[in-house]
Amino acid sequence: MTAELIDGRSCAARLREQVQADVRELTARGARPGLATVLAGDSYPARAYERRVRDLAESLGCRYSCVALPGDAAEADVVAAVGGLCADPRVSGVLVLRPLPPQVSEAAVYRALDPLKDIEAVHPVNAGLLALERPRFVPSTPASVFHLLDTYLSRDGRDPGEVYRRSRVVVVGRSANVGKPVVSLAMARGATVVSCDVHSARAGLLREHTTAADILVVAAGVPGLLRGVDVKPGVIAVDVGINAVHDEMTGAVRLVGDLDHDSVARRAAAITPVPGGVGPVTYTWLLRNTVAAARLALATDPVRRAKGLPGPELDVRELVSA
Ligand code: NDP
Repeated sequence: MTAELIDGRSCAARLREQVQADVRELTARGARPGLATVLAGDSYPARAYERRVRDLAESLGCRYSCVALPGDAAEADVVAAVGGLCADPRVSGVLVLRPLPPQVSEAAVYRALDPLKDIEAVHPVNAGLLALERPRFVPSTPASVFHLLDTYLSRDGRDPGEVYRRSRVVVVGRSANVGKPVVSLAMARGATVVSCDVHSARAGLLREHTTAADILVVAAGVPGLLRGVDVKPGVIAVDVGINAVHDEMTGAVRLVGDLDHDSVARRAAAITPVPGGVGPVTYTWLLRNTVAAARLALATDPVRRAKGLPGPELDVRELVSA
């Protein structure tokens, strides 16, 4: 079997058209969406992510700003930067870039977010709503995983919901940002869900679970963690990992996933590539969530409502769920 490639770039391009139309519509109503990021320190992945997000936001016509702080910034400074952005009415959504410097607690910074501007659903209230299957925002990477799966599963007129309900979904990696929300979204779709992390690997249990997966989502940050022998023939495999590795022959740096792509692709029914899989959809989904936050601000702004602007109450679930 040679797997079908699930193409994230074309999926992202279609999504981008929708987001662009939404940005135009909101801008015409005087509510141009604005994204702001907080970058503390000079981690290469965080800076690269910031550049991609900025380029996309600007190309879509959103407002964009970034507060950059030095790597020795105190936690209070990062918290104050987040608070300042959340208080700014021109900012619809705030993204805190990871990793934060070691002296800064992620939890403290996330608590400083206004839940209505927390487009990655990292504030405890939003993370809780997601776990309770009542999401206000669906974080961009987990949302992208299911957007790609839904697109692949529905392409021949199949009902993705029906596929999920009779599938075993195995998620490798359970970070608060990626693995755990993927588990919540899979449970919300009625799948039978298994969550594995480094302890499963140490206990020698990983292969037992991954070879039973109908749908496998891997987000561990370990290059080539799983090979063809670790998956079931016919699996649908989503590789979230983005790892920079040095090519020993050329010395060049290239990006690889958590799956050994070639050997897994020989057994899988479908697989996402790295790069060009989950990544491009993630950036676009972040802007989609920024648009959703701008709509939320319109719907909840008492001054605008008193002036009769804009129209009706909006259904938050319909607006922002994946
Ligand atoms: P984290 O480091 O925060 O979490 C990694 C998770 O994987 C942890 O739960 C960890 O377990 C688990 N893990 C580590 N080693 C193993 C192992 N050998 N076997 C099983 N589980 C293991 O990373 P993130 O969740 O933030 O990111 C994961 C990957 O996804 C990275 O490569 C990252 O670059 C990529 N990424 C890609 C995005 C995209 O858009 N495509 C967006 C965000 C991230 P434990 O908790 O026990 O240590």
